[in-house]
Amino acid sequence: MNTTSTTEKVETFDTTLRDGMQVEGVSATVEDKMRIAEQLDFLGVDFIEGGWPGANPKDVEFFARAARELTLRNSILVAFGSTRRPRGKVDDDVTLRNLVEADTSAVCIVAKSWDYHVETALQTTLDEGVAMVGDSVEFLTREGRRVLVDLEHFFDGFRHNPEFSMRVVEAALMRGATHLVLCDTNGGSLPHEIAEAVARVREHVGSDAILGIHCHDDTGCAVANSMAAVQAGVRHVQGTLNGLGERTGNANLTTIIPNLQLKMGFECLPEGHLAHLTAVSHHVAEVLNRPLNPQAPYVGASAFAHKAGLHVSAIARAKDAYEHVDPETVGNGTRFVVSEMAGRATIQMKAQELGLEMDGAAVNQVIDDLKRLEHEGYHFEAADASLELLMRRAAGWTQEAFRVESMRVITDESPDGRFTTEATVKVWVAEERHVHVAEGNGPVNAIDAALRAALLAHHPELARIHLTDYKVRILDGATATGAVTRVLIDATNGERSWTTIGVSTNIIEASWQALEESLVYGLLHSGG
Ligand SMILES: [Zn+2]
Repeated sequence: MNTTSTTEKVETFDTTLRDGMQVEGVSATVEDKMRIAEQLDFLGVDFIEGGWPGANPKDVEFFARAARELTLRNSILVAFGSTRRPRGKVDDDVTLRNLVEADTSAVCIVAKSWDYHVETALQTTLDEGVAMVGDSVEFLTREGRRVLVDLEHFFDGFRHNPEFSMRVVEAALMRGATHLVLCDTNGGSLPHEIAEAVARVREHVGSDAILGIHCHDDTGCAVANSMAAVQAGVRHVQGTLNGLGERTGNANLTTIIPNLQLKMGFECLPEGHLAHLTAVSHHVAEVLNRPLNPQAPYVGASAFAHKAGLHVSAIARAKDAYEHVDPETVGNGTRFVVSEMAGRATIQMKAQELGLEMDGAAVNQVIDDLKRLEHEGYHFEAADASLELLMRRAAGWTQEAFRVESMRVITDESPDGRFTTEATVKVWVAEERHVHVAEGNGPVNAIDAALRAALLAHHPELARIHLTDYKVRILDGATATGAVTRVLIDATNGERSWTTIGVSTNIIEASWQALEESLVYGLLHSGG
């Protein structure tokens, strides 16, 4: 284990609201961006890059609303922009004016530090390229802003023409930049190259400015590159939550932060805030409708999941022998993956994880149920929520949130060829009978809508729960009656996500089982 005696600070700069929005298929509203900014502040990153004011109306609106509505406790909001135009003047430059008008205490500007880009993209001279950076930094500094400079394509530029790249560094430094952020914009660098370049810049810059790193993941090394940069002296790391970003993504702060804090002994977040990491990561995935990779380091659902075979009792004795960090430090938890192969020890461990008292008879009941149900086509490894409900029932629990009397779903094709689906659900909630009818774009959608409508008056917390995925698989027709359908439903309440399962020869029945279990589980855990 690596410990250091003094806790040195590494600043975190989140660019989810700009770089993160470049992912294909992601589009956030201003409201979404406000919610994400709140989450970032709750997590406690040092800087939140809010976007590029002036680039689009959405970002202008975001900064206006942020100024009025956001009360940030831990983070500084940053407006992003670029240097002035070639051969232009700072005073009448639109980009710089937009930056000032965004009214943030800090701004981050992108500066070209690769000669090739200055000559081909900007089509200007190298001297003018350097002047654009220096003039812009000075202008913004005079406007009272803290100025961070993102040195675009720094590592590629430094490889080709280190002298020019260093002139840009020098200009930004001399004219007042507080941060020089070295960017691997094309994402093609490897850790040893990053470390070498950072060391050389550091020699030159000394302690006159804070050096930063901004990596993209095109070689799969964005996290490793960021770690190497810190090792070489950088004290400011830029990245996005869950690694969101164009192409293969940006450096993943959700991985870098715990790496720096737990493995290298740096301080990134305020004391105690690392434990918010898993919840924030899931929340942001949810706002952007971008399901989190279950295998994501630290925060993924499988990050601390043990498919326990023979060594389950060993894990019980010494959890730390099988986990690289205590999952609680990042707000995650140990999870035991249970299947029909599970023995008594695994079931006991799972019961402990869920906080359930189970005697020998109940454990045997679970083992019998698992064997029987998995033979029928259930797959509990993939449906943790259904497993939990099964175990609770074996331990004597019954759900009392509602009781279903009947459910009916009808799909009609009208003469014009349109399909309409309507579901009727009759349920009892607290001795009251509720009958609700709802339409949907398909049977699952319709029964979901009808069941919720029937329950909502008594269980307003259902409003927070929604389905995020619905998977259907036809299992090979091993039985004489034909193929069996397995349905998996993913749901979330914004803080926790869960999966339930249903199996039947009838797809509607399988869907209904999974749906009902999903809502039961959601209500069971809506308290916290
Ligand atoms: Zn970037």
